[in-house]
Amino acid sequence: MPFPFTGQCTCPCGTSKFSLSKRPTRRFLCHCTICQKIYQKPHSDVAVLSATRVSVETPNTIEFGKYKEEPALDRGLCKECGNPVVGFLPVMPFVRLAFVPCANILDQDRLPEPAMHIYYDTRVADVDDGIPKYEGNKQSQRKATGLVLAGFLGL
Ligand SMILES: [Zn+2]
Ligand SMILES: [Zn+2]
Repeated sequence: MPFPFTGQCTCPCGTSKFSLSKRPTRRFLCHCTICQKIYQKPHSDVAVLSATRVSVETPNTIEFGKYKEEPALDRGLCKECGNPVVGFLPVMPFVRLAFVPCANILDQDRLPEPAMHIYYDTRVADVDDGIPKYEGNKQSQRKATGLVLAGFLGL
């Protein structure tokens, strides 16, 4: 790798800033209806890593909230532009994961390839990219959890 990963991240308007102490290696695309609504896009594009790797630099510009269908995921939206900044999910005692919208990571060329599409059954458009696609709540949750747990020691 020619350059070290800077880890710098911002929301689209640049007001909300945070940083990652490790380059993410797990990434997936989520077509659930909540992501579609919050991101105003056909799907979200998210990297997942341990929450301990995330430092929020502007906590006062981020509004954290939970959405009905996902009671556990604490999604942080920028108070200025309303876009997702970073989300946190407790998975077991003392273990929290961070979900980082890939668009917020400034080192775009250091992102991993997406490993999977989840909630593909609620897609607004077909995607022809050869990446595995999983449908429905059960399968999507299981595959996404597997993705995270497989690399857990490396997070
Ligand atoms: Zn989603
Ligand atoms: Zn913003």
